[in-house]
Amino acid sequence: MILAKDGIHSYEKIREDTYRIDEKGIANTYLLLGKDKALLIDSGLGVGDLYQTIRELTELPIVLALTHRHCDHAGGRNYFKEYYVNENDKPLIYKILSSQFASKKLLSMNKENKNPVKFNKQPNHAKPVFIKDGYSFDLGGRIVKTINTPGHTKGSIVFLDEKTKLMFTGDDVNLWLWLQLPGCTNLSTWLIGAKKILGLAEEYTPYCGHNEGLITKEGIRELIRVGEELLVNKTTNKAKTFNYPEDEKAPARICITKSRLK
Ligand SMILES: [Zn+2]
Repeated sequence: MILAKDGIHSYEKIREDTYRIDEKGIANTYLLLGKDKALLIDSGLGVGDLYQTIRELTELPIVLALTHRHCDHAGGRNYFKEYYVNENDKPLIYKILSSQFASKKLLSMNKENKNPVKFNKQPNHAKPVFIKDGYSFDLGGRIVKTINTPGHTKGSIVFLDEKTKLMFTGDDVNLWLWLQLPGCTNLSTWLIGAKKILGLAEEYTPYCGHNEGLITKEGIRELIRVGEELLVNKTTNKAKTFNYPEDEKAPARICITKSRLK
């Protein structure tokens, strides 16, 4: 990884004209370059200077699109005038969950961050552009398609890039999946989308919104297995919200609220 000039972001080239940008180990954004435009998938929590970091990599006009409307993916949106997001992430709850208030709260919960970083002032007040399932971005010689897979949020989308055969899955098949937040779907709805993503992983290599980015088919398969097991067995856990399995070292885990076990 190459450290960006802001000292917060770092980036690596994962394919030709394709970069993963890490924001202080908190979240990933991805930059895809076409002939005419660049597509930025997600925008981090909003710490450091994402815009200048992108400008270290390209001079192309940038289109921002989000895998879903959460604060650690939407935090850099105000560097831009608008951002694309699936229409199912329109409800007020997602506006709240993607606010800077939510970003600050999430950052304060991150115990590893002993020296909290500052939020830079961003120049715009970006407006959401709500897109339908199947919407495609044409970057000039590079088409990137979106598919709605409700689960982590109702409007969670996967981006499919024909040029590199990569897919960008946001938080919907993270190996520590969060289904406990307001606005998440129930478990069986998530399973439908997760199985669709697993099928797509035959053709496309998945990169997710956190950690090292790259995940495997086996990882997704294990997460689905855990989800199906939980749906059948329910749980003896007394807490309203819990992790399953409880073992922190398990390869795939789901954090969920009891009411979503259906
Ligand atoms: Zn999320």
